[in-house]
Amino acid sequence: MLHGNPKDAAVQNDPNVTLITATAPVATTTHGGRAKCLQRLVRLDLPVPRTVALCFDTVKAIAAGGMPDLSAILGQFDDRALLCVRPSSEDPDWGGPGAVMSIGMSDGAHAALSDSLGPAAATALYLRFVQSYATHVARLDPDEFEHIDGTGPEALAAALDAYEDEADEPFPQDRGEQLAGVLRSMARAWDGTSARLLRQAKGAPAEAGLGLVVQEMIPGVGPGECGSGVIQLVNTVTGDKQVTGRYLRQSQGREALGDGSGSLYLASDSRGTALQDVAPEAFGALRDHAALMRRQLRAEMQVEFVIANGQVHILDGMRVPRSPRAAVKIAVRLAEEGIIPRQEALLRVEPHGLNELLHRQVDPEAERDLLATGIAASPGAATGRIVFTSADAQASAARGEACVLVRRETSPEDVRGMHAAAAVLTEKGGMTSHAAVIGRGLGLPCIVGVSDLRFQTRKKQITAPDGRILREGDLVTIDGTSGQVLAGEPAMLEAALDDSFRTLMGWADAERDIGIRANADTPADAQTARNFDAQGIGLCRTEHMFFETGRLTVMREMIFAQTPAGRAAVLERLLPMQRADFVQLFRIMEGQPVCIRLFDPPLHEFLPTNRAGQRDLADALNLPVSDVTRRADAMVEYNPMLGMRGVRLGVTVPEIYDMQARAIFEAAIEASRDGASVVPEIMIPLVSARREVELVKARIDAVAVAVRAEAGRDFDYRLGVMVETPRAALRAAEIAPHCAFLSFGTNDLTQMTYGLSRDDAGRFMSAYVQKGVFPEDPFHVLDTDGVGELLRLGVERGRGAHPGITLSVCGEHGGNPESIAFCRAAGFDYVSCSPFRVPVARLAAAQLAI
Ligand code: PEP
Ligand code: MG
Repeated sequence: MLHGNPKDAAVQNDPNVTLITATAPVATTTHGGRAKCLQRLVRLDLPVPRTVALCFDTVKAIAAGGMPDLSAILGQFDDRALLCVRPSSEDPDWGGPGAVMSIGMSDGAHAALSDSLGPAAATALYLRFVQSYATHVARLDPDEFEHIDGTGPEALAAALDAYEDEADEPFPQDRGEQLAGVLRSMARAWDGTSARLLRQAKGAPAEAGLGLVVQEMIPGVGPGECGSGVIQLVNTVTGDKQVTGRYLRQSQGREALGDGSGSLYLASDSRGTALQDVAPEAFGALRDHAALMRRQLRAEMQVEFVIANGQVHILDGMRVPRSPRAAVKIAVRLAEEGIIPRQEALLRVEPHGLNELLHRQVDPEAERDLLATGIAASPGAATGRIVFTSADAQASAARGEACVLVRRETSPEDVRGMHAAAAVLTEKGGMTSHAAVIGRGLGLPCIVGVSDLRFQTRKKQITAPDGRILREGDLVTIDGTSGQVLAGEPAMLEAALDDSFRTLMGWADAERDIGIRANADTPADAQTARNFDAQGIGLCRTEHMFFETGRLTVMREMIFAQTPAGRAAVLERLLPMQRADFVQLFRIMEGQPVCIRLFDPPLHEFLPTNRAGQRDLADALNLPVSDVTRRADAMVEYNPMLGMRGVRLGVTVPEIYDMQARAIFEAAIEASRDGASVVPEIMIPLVSARREVELVKARIDAVAVAVRAEAGRDFDYRLGVMVETPRAALRAAEIAPHCAFLSFGTNDLTQMTYGLSRDDAGRFMSAYVQKGVFPEDPFHVLDTDGVGELLRLGVERGRGAHPGITLSVCGEHGGNPESIAFCRAAGFDYVSCSPFRVPVARLAAAQLAI
């Protein structure tokens, strides 16, 4: 603690070794975050033990075989001081080798410390040092040291003997030799391949540097109140103000955090003894130090400390580890107290993490009984009993019993079952498969593409890789945030849409400069979109409105109609249903834009696939079941996603779009009568040629004229095109003049650009990502090179031909922060994503604008 050591001047001249003082040239980018933080603590006049920092270059040289002048380091410390070396990387998340303590322990030091600290404490320190040096520095077989029992003199003798046997030389007694060994082993560990890979996975550059700090040890053992621990002023999980931490008497380093046995709480606590009870003064000093650090370092800090004979010493400080919900609360509170500006608060919250606030989650502290892992398709967690059919899911819901719907894959027929289920699990599929898209829309936890579970849906069982068999009625938990399928019912944390969350979102909206809408198909979706403050609906997939009970059969009758007149009759029945849907959507959105996509999917998706459905339809049509199956078979396409769907239906069976356009216009008139004026947006899907747009536009304009005349009221509408085939992007210049907006459907555009089925890619996607063929699943994170090039061309050509045109992205990528960055840079006006992803998108967009 002698900051004014007379040797300072000499050492300050050694460029390899920097004594940390208030003014020493120490920077995060040259010495690492820990060294810089310690300097800040020194500047705050906190009781920090004397510390020397080695910069990245010095450590690199040590890894390469060099060694700085050790006397320049050792000369900084009292001859008898024990030393501790800790890693100091630029970003604490990048990790680093573990700290090594008690350097300098030797037979001589042991004898001296036995006098000052007592023999038991001195022996325990020496033993721990021998064990840690043997395994981490000399790299001897840990088995030889781990089995040594006890902490007394016999154990120490056994450890010293084992060292000599294994290393063929006695345990080093010289502090310089020990220090050199520690520095070398830590520098080389950082340089090793596995450490590189680990930190690269956390976003570190391959050549990231490591600094080291050498600190005088303050023993937490000895006479009087001695011990060590950590303290923080907030709860790590909730972010609430609360003094927490652990303190272990007669301990060193982070032992207090070990298995917790014998450690004390910090503040007085009904659960047991606390430091505040046994050493109130030390506790008060610590709490004051932590508060000062919070204010001056402008962050909630976790403080590592030692109490030596009643005196508090601060060894280190790091940002409090925190759950996403705590991150929001902490950032908002720091900004509200004026400690950091609002913009900084926005930057401190990781957008993806918000998912955890919007849904129930498995408690991070709960035990997980892992069955298998798949693609995390829709975040949140839910527990329920396994059911294998949608009908069983509905029956479960009717009994008030939570269930998990397990299917090989889902189809429109399962939507009712999905509504009834607490979570969904499918064997097949990827990020944009049916189950994934519907799951996200409903805010329903969903895992798809779980290929390591064996699905035997007929036998109503699934088999986990470890051989466990799960049957109907068994309790499982779907963690759609991590993609883990868990057995049983782990503890959960509830969603946390609290005031802090709303405050942060408000600040985000003030910063961002790209619009965020929601993809919403039903009134419930639209309400969620409103709750999350979306700026309108960017995509309403109208076919989803036909999946409801009662409507599906009418829809099927329409598909089976033999003549235009027969079809017109069924469409007459569908018209009021659609109109009522749109009136509701317009009313909920209160004048905000609503973009309705005309019917898109292949018709055969609506056909019944099982016997019961076929019988229902045969009843409705008054036909034999064999007729129904024959005609359903006749509609099967080899490649339905590239077959009779989207605008191709609109061109060949135009009555469907006529009905939808009429429903939209009549609904707009009705909703505008008693509410805000509605200007509907109508979008044509899967366009690949200008002529398709001309044909559909002519009919829709004609419907508008007819409705205006019938209603005796005028209204506006905007017609647009969905750009989701590569050709539409390339030909945007000739399509754009015919429409008010282009909305890029990046799900289909990705599928068609790669020639990669969005429903089947899940099977090999993880292998592709693992082998580095794709950096990420392109259905999840936009492929900015290939698909991105088409988007850029589409934007440039579309806007070139029609400068006032509105451009947007409505594929699932619209909710992905990396993809939003691309969209903003490419000049899109807004992105549209599942309602539950809207908050993530709002925060990500704000961060881009700051
Ligand atoms: C798309 O293809 O990107 C899109 C939004 O439409 P869908 O997912 O319904 O095909
Ligand atoms: Mg599409």
